[in-house]
Amino acid sequence: MKAVVFEEHGGPDILNYTDILNSEPKSFEFLIEVKAAGANFNDIWARRGMPGMKVVFPHVAGSDVAGVVRAIGSEVGGTGFGSSPVRVGDEVVVHPGISCRTCDMCTSGQEFFCRQFLIWGFQTGPNDGGHSELVTMPAVNVLPKPANLTFEEAASMPLVLETAWRMLVTRARIQAGENVLIWGGVGGLGVMAIQICRMFGANPIPVVGGAAKVAKAQELGATDVIDRTSEDVAGRVREITRKVGADIVFEHSGQDTWPTSMAALRWGGRLVVCGASTGFEAVTDLRFLWNKQQNLLGSHLASKAELAAALRAVEAGHIKPVIDHVFPLRDVSKAQQLMEDLKVQGKLVYVP
Ligand SMILES: [Zn+2]
Repeated sequence: MKAVVFEEHGGPDILNYTDILNSEPKSFEFLIEVKAAGANFNDIWARRGMPGMKVVFPHVAGSDVAGVVRAIGSEVGGTGFGSSPVRVGDEVVVHPGISCRTCDMCTSGQEFFCRQFLIWGFQTGPNDGGHSELVTMPAVNVLPKPANLTFEEAASMPLVLETAWRMLVTRARIQAGENVLIWGGVGGLGVMAIQICRMFGANPIPVVGGAAKVAKAQELGATDVIDRTSEDVAGRVREITRKVGADIVFEHSGQDTWPTSMAALRWGGRLVVCGASTGFEAVTDLRFLWNKQQNLLGSHLASKAELAAALRAVEAGHIKPVIDHVFPLRDVSKAQQLMEDLKVQGKLVYVP
């Protein structure tokens, strides 16, 4: 089978579209023919290397796939142990949180706290990510594909959808009427965050770079869009919120934007963070944190149940996929270059 493989850290040129051994499902797994795979910044972190994280080589990246079940392991099916409503021939998507499924955390629906938790296609391996023609996946991680989406649309959603959903719905407990500052407003996470805000009756305030991205954010229903290339972000938030500040700040940028995020956050507000693409050494002035009684919330992926809830919102039409471009799988390096140059609105998708 074809896959995009790398065996060391480096730039996009180390990605090799090549033949690897076919995946075989273990007893508790499905074999899925990949019809489309999503691109995420995790793919780039794995390729570049990330301090403190071990990448297993040879590595096939990719944490989002949509496809068709081609085979099932011996323990999957029926009504007993390992039972799953999914059958051979079904169209599916995957929840990329891999965990033991037996510990206290897993059985309480908090698999992200499992001591064995890994993001599939990012921290797993060798050779088992989604940028491939076939993948194997524990049956418990497989969900039916929303019927109203194409394979390309479905592959563009789960990781960013469930991450943004947990951040806003579960962690920050978004409420109608709240103002939500969203960094990377038309990136993969941002386009989900804008739509979740609108679904809950909150006001998204996406921050974007340049006129084309302002237009894209407006197209998604945001009325208060901030262009960081020409506007002062904290100043604009004060204007939009009548000097109150944002109720929620949606952070995944980190070091470069953190001081602005804290300045734009209202007294008693919630800042929720799921990543730090510009760097990890963010500075917080603690005087303001205690005086303003602000809340800092970490968030990491989501549970399978949170993905299922978010997919119901997708099937109901509240949240739509936003795809910038579909590439053949052999062009992953070209696509990653576009992502690193911040030239993408929404998501990139690969088709084997
Ligand atoms: Zn566990």
